[in-house]
Amino acid sequence: MNIQVNQLGYTPAMRKVAIMRGALNSELLVKNAAGETVLTVPVSTERTQLWGDDVVTADFSALTRPGTYTLECGSESSYPFVIAEKPYTACLTALVDMLYYQRCGDDLKPEAGCFAHPACHTGLARVYGTDEFVEANGGWHDAGDYGRYIVPAAKTVADMLLAYEWNKDAFVPGLTDLINEARWELQWMLKLQRADGGVYHKVSCAGFCGMIMPHEEKEELILSPVSTTATGDFAACMAMAARTYADIDSAFAAQMKEAAIRAWDFLENSEPILFRNPEGIRTGGYGDRSDADERLWAAIELARTCGEPYLTAAEVKLAAMDRHAAPLGWGDMRGYCAIEGLALPGEAGQRCRRWVLREAENLLKRLNLYGISMTEHLHWGSNMDVANQGMMLMQAFRLTGEVKYRIAAEKQLHYLLGVNPLSYCYVSGFGSQPMCRPHHRPSVAQGVCQPGMLSGGPCSGLADAVAKEHLQGQPAGKCFVDDHGSYSTNEICIYWNSPLIALVAALDK
Ligand SMILES: [Zn+2]
Repeated sequence: MNIQVNQLGYTPAMRKVAIMRGALNSELLVKNAAGETVLTVPVSTERTQLWGDDVVTADFSALTRPGTYTLECGSESSYPFVIAEKPYTACLTALVDMLYYQRCGDDLKPEAGCFAHPACHTGLARVYGTDEFVEANGGWHDAGDYGRYIVPAAKTVADMLLAYEWNKDAFVPGLTDLINEARWELQWMLKLQRADGGVYHKVSCAGFCGMIMPHEEKEELILSPVSTTATGDFAACMAMAARTYADIDSAFAAQMKEAAIRAWDFLENSEPILFRNPEGIRTGGYGDRSDADERLWAAIELARTCGEPYLTAAEVKLAAMDRHAAPLGWGDMRGYCAIEGLALPGEAGQRCRRWVLREAENLLKRLNLYGISMTEHLHWGSNMDVANQGMMLMQAFRLTGEVKYRIAAEKQLHYLLGVNPLSYCYVSGFGSQPMCRPHHRPSVAQGVCQPGMLSGGPCSGLADAVAKEHLQGQPAGKCFVDDHGSYSTNEICIYWNSPLIALVAALDK
């Protein structure tokens, strides 16, 4: 396709810009479902070279009447799209249901179709290097593999709780609902805390299995050693969730608050323990170079939930850290520090306000014609970065009411749902050209693509054999191949879905 649109459509109020390339006329025609031209808009005369294409834009924001449309320009046309008040509701439900499909240790109900399976990974887990065994059932399989890791779990749950805080009315239950699903993960996370407060980094088999269904993986489960990054993320996530669940289930909230305090006490008495896979363990490492951001995030969440002495700790740590960037990663939690710190009293809250706005301004300065901030290098999981940055831009909009931030946040969504140089809707099961061959064991095992999963998207590093075979010489924005074997461009992940859940929910208001 040479005219790129959001394949799920737009709300009437949204800024709507088509990105186009190839031989085009000077005018863009908007056609309704009957093929009648309902609007004609000029094509910009400014041409931009980007990712190997000569690109122009056309703004059709004047189209506001609900309906189904296509765009035509010369001999080119777009995929059909809708104008509707709530164009993303079904997609949002599917994005949350994806987490239900990823459940471990549960009998997935028949409504899960061919992805239903008996409870998996139900054996006791051996504490690495010992003869001690712990019950660590539950949670979600992290990604295309069946490991369960605390660090990415904390990011995923934090995004979901932010989505709920920002706009709980955006959610329509499907196989599950947001609050029950986040609880499923939180209950598992509680099982990974040791009596002394430290938190095991992950539970997985020693290595990755073949492309089989989860209940078919029977190797021994192993709890990898405690890390302070996992313990810090755990403390933050539990303290945050304790507030969310206080009115929903006060006993569960109290349990999480107690666990958060115990994790904090462990941190206060521990030097950094940065995780590396121990000998014999080959599953996802989720390593980190520093635990300072995890400790700050924990302090901020505990300050909000419990007050002193955590508030003083948060203020001291904030003063040392707020000069830097604020990404919403799984390894770099400073974006969560900035966002969650907004509610702190006095100078701490003001610091976080400046931090969020500085990050949002830095993003605005870097947006390219496709609307995203990354042009030269797109890292593994670049679609997560796009969704994360959409979240941060929406946070800036929520703080200031300035529409420039909201419009930029919308662009992140449009990019993920079709306004990109390869015309993909990067969410499986949605749009006219969805990603459909993900690196995801159940999808490969069943020969059917599980719906509602956000692909990792372009990775300019060509980090797997399939990417190397197909993408040599491609510009960064086109370094994507819809192939089961390309784990560096087309895996799926719980914490890639979660920022998109937050972004879609925030934009629904
Ligand atoms: Zn499992």
